[in-house]
Amino acid sequence: MKSLAKLKREPGIWMQDAPMPEIGHNDVLIKIKKTAICGTDIHIYNWDEWAQKTIPVPMIVGHEYAGEIAAIGSEVKGFKIGDRVSGEGHISCGFCRNCKAGRRHLCRKNIGVGVTRPGCFAEYLSLPAVNAYPLPPEVTDEQAAILDPLGNATHVALSFDVVGEDILITGAGPIGVMAAAIARHVGARHIVISDVNDYRLELARNMGATYAVNIKNESISSVMKKLGMNEGFDIGFEMSGNSAAFNMMLETINHAGKIALLGFLPQNTTLDWNQIIMKGLIIKGIYGREMFETWYKMISMLQSGLNIAPIITHHLPINDFQKGFDIMCSGISGKVILDWEQ
Ligand code: NAD
Ligand code: ZN
Repeated sequence: MKSLAKLKREPGIWMQDAPMPEIGHNDVLIKIKKTAICGTDIHIYNWDEWAQKTIPVPMIVGHEYAGEIAAIGSEVKGFKIGDRVSGEGHISCGFCRNCKAGRRHLCRKNIGVGVTRPGCFAEYLSLPAVNAYPLPPEVTDEQAAILDPLGNATHVALSFDVVGEDILITGAGPIGVMAAAIARHVGARHIVISDVNDYRLELARNMGATYAVNIKNESISSVMKKLGMNEGFDIGFEMSGNSAAFNMMLETINHAGKIALLGFLPQNTTLDWNQIIMKGLIIKGIYGREMFETWYKMISMLQSGLNIAPIITHHLPINDFQKGFDIMCSGISGKVILDWEQ
């Protein structure tokens, strides 16, 4: 089958012919229709320090996809050939304390599709059936291909009650912009989103942000004044992975504020800890998506009118994969979809 793989320990990604994946008794085989390129795929493409430590070579990568069931293991129940699915990319052990308690996203032994086991940038993917998520007809293949990052955004945005609250989102990457759309959908008041990338800030405006601010040109406190905010933000979503952005969030959040941290901050990040202590802040680390409560909620929100269409800015046939990676690397994009059906 046709596939995109990390074949060399150097920047790049390569198209190759690979053997069809095998499925076990508890697996399904998914025929891939559309995939999306994640920021993680760009780390793997660029072969940065994290990728060098994490990614086995050679390996097919990718973990954002929509497809349909093409074969079913003998022990699998609940799926039939032709069912449309996407899938959860974290494969949990099923036996640790958190798995047993139904908190599988917090499994100590998570394995990642397209990160530590073969991924979806291929004509076929073998996946444990419990990780496959059925798609209702209202969810298009394009939307389904980005349920993984929409799930990150949903996990963050629904972590705290945002109804009537003022939200600060640092980082208008695809996940930050989708989090803005969700906060708007569920009833936040002011949603301020910051970035240094004007293209992405414009996407955020189109998806429900009250105010999208380029912090190179304007400060968050000036935005607060314009919006008539006297005290501070009630809730923060850190989605940039930038330590300066996080520190600025700590400065502008109100006492008793709540922060969900998604962006991977550098190890040497220093914080003004007294902001956290003396303001009585609650900080929650976010990893992946809740299995499978997040999946249920995000699909319900799509069915009830959450519009994520503007975040998909490019759609290319798989043979143009290099162009797709170049666009993602440029930062002048939202989500890039690669189509495997042509
Ligand atoms: P992304 O890299 O596309 O977006 C990050 C954005 O932050 C970029 O648009 C960048 O311009 C912006 N930024 C940089 N410096 C900034 C600053 N000082 N202030 C405000 N914005 C700034 O990433 P994404 O795909 O949207 O993901 C968001 C973050 O979450 C990334 O750090 C990613 O690695 C991380 N992530 C975490 C998980 C998890 O499970 N915890 C899952 C997916 C992604
Ligand atoms: Zn586990």
